[in-house]
Amino acid sequence: MLKLENITKKYGDISIFCGLNLELSAGEVISITGPSGSGKTTLFNMIGTLDNDYEGDIYFENKRLADMTEKEQLSFRNDNIGFIFQGGYLLPQCNAIENILLPLIPAGIRNEKYHDRAMELLERVGMKDKAYKMPGVLSGGECQRIALVRSLIKKPRIVIADEPTGSLDPVNADITGELLLDMNKNENTVLVVFTHSERLAGIMRKHYVISEKKLSGNTRW
Ligand code: ADP
Ligand code: MG
Repeated sequence: MLKLENITKKYGDISIFCGLNLELSAGEVISITGPSGSGKTTLFNMIGTLDNDYEGDIYFENKRLADMTEKEQLSFRNDNIGFIFQGGYLLPQCNAIENILLPLIPAGIRNEKYHDRAMELLERVGMKDKAYKMPGVLSGGECQRIALVRSLIKKPRIVIADEPTGSLDPVNADITGELLLDMNKNENTVLVVFTHSERLAGIMRKHYVISEKKLSGNTRW
């Protein structure tokens, strides 16, 4: 479904990836770990079509992302990818449900259609009663659950998450990690979790490590 072939990425003279390969099938759940500065966010951006400045090829169902026009990439991204950005990226001036419905704006979809789905997903993460709260009055774990629901609102094929438990205490990190797995399993998405947490990575069946500017992978069970 998603294939990265011989990816080389540089920032100026500094090389981040060199000949990186990755192949993911429908329904797969993987973690990608590496220490701070190893290139997790860089790879997140490339898979998410937010960064097109690399050598090599990324294919989604045999379509090469780099061959798409900017407009095609925009709708590809909107239709297929759910993003969980580092730190959640909630808009502080919008309440929980407004934040969840944000990805629908570029597609011009009438938000009311998705309101019920948002409430259902919120219920599944135990947050139905917080739908109209502002992020400022919610805990870090609650905000991450909103970010999780937002990533799923448009029924994406792939969810990518950048350090989804990075700012959480261990208890909330565990809850968020399990919810991330459960929700994506139910929604039948591919899930790619970038994290420096071995604990979070440990609950994903397939695990890749960024090492020597490439990915090396193993399956745990
Ligand atoms: P991680 O998410 O694993 O902490 P990043 O992908 O953010 O790592 O960064 C990888 C390396 O690339 C770091 O050394 C970082 O300083 C560098 N880097 C990241 N973004 C840029 C950029 N826009 N310009 C130059 N260097 C960058
Ligand atoms: Mg990062």
